[in-house]
Amino acid sequence: MSQDGQKEEKKPKAVALLSGGLDSSLAVRMMLEQGVDVEAVAIKTPFCDFDCGKGCGHRVKEVADEIGIKLKTVYFGEEYLRMLKDPKHGYGSGMNPCIDCRQMMYGAAKEHMEKTGADFIITGEVLFQRPMSQNNRALHIIESETGLEGKVLRPLSAKHMPPTDAEKSGLIKRENMGDIKGRSRKGQLALAKHFGVQEPPNAAGGCLLTDPAFSKRVEDAMQHAQDIPSINDIELLKVGRHFRLTGDAKLVVGRNKDENEVMLALVEDADVVLEAKDYVGPVCILRGKSDDSAIATAASIALRYSDAPKDARSKVRVRAGGSEREIAVAPADNGWLESIRI
Ligand code: SF4
Repeated sequence: MSQDGQKEEKKPKAVALLSGGLDSSLAVRMMLEQGVDVEAVAIKTPFCDFDCGKGCGHRVKEVADEIGIKLKTVYFGEEYLRMLKDPKHGYGSGMNPCIDCRQMMYGAAKEHMEKTGADFIITGEVLFQRPMSQNNRALHIIESETGLEGKVLRPLSAKHMPPTDAEKSGLIKRENMGDIKGRSRKGQLALAKHFGVQEPPNAAGGCLLTDPAFSKRVEDAMQHAQDIPSINDIELLKVGRHFRLTGDAKLVVGRNKDENEVMLALVEDADVVLEAKDYVGPVCILRGKSDDSAIATAASIALRYSDAPKDARSKVRVRAGGSEREIAVAPADNGWLESIRI
């Protein structure tokens, strides 16, 4: 009851999937404008800092603060890799399992909705903006398989979609919802202006799994892992040049000083680390079955990317299992290298 004896109406409450990009922040602002209480969930995967916001993920906390809403971050690690190995709904143009991925994200939002007693979920999805996961069929599959039918409101595109429970029950006025669809950013920029959003962030470019070159590496890692790759394996995919030496062994060669440092931090006990002994050259990590033949091949590649002369044998330092030795090899041949590059 309020002070004047009137019964206070309970404010509707929503959980937002927030990415740090423009679309989800606009969806939240639309809800706040309607008097809805909003809390946000941000998802981090091994391939994407937050949701689909490549390059903008780091802004998610900043955006939540700017809008003035609570934020919970959920990290998907091994369970994400397990899904990625064999996604029920397949991959997009790269190794992006968007439908299964969104289902996991919806699942996290659902859990938070139930925990906080929220009425529904909102997302910044725009109909037909992304080919794999943002069409009517995909959105329907994602909702029905997560038990969220009628519970997910996409404020930016709501007028193009069937009414959700929140609209049917009058918690939300459908006439105030958006009618944006497609890949143009005009509607979002107009809304950003309406909300006085200064310097709206660029359109999200998709996660690493939509990158063709990176996808090739992920596919190779999945094919050659006994079960699933480790998080460390995935981190290693993000740096260096990668070469598939055998079914059981691969070599990663640093491309610059920063990458060399990242790679050294990722070295595991079973790895072999190689570096040219007398010349400037990259850090190389041989991961997998490292018999003498694989080590000799890895050493020749390490030498190829060093300043060592290309027409002579030179020494390579080989560190493995706490001991160190040197071997002399000739640099690898460029043409052959391209044939084993991942
Ligand atoms: S692009 Fe697809 S796979 Fe990547 S985070 Fe977005 S929904 Fe998930």
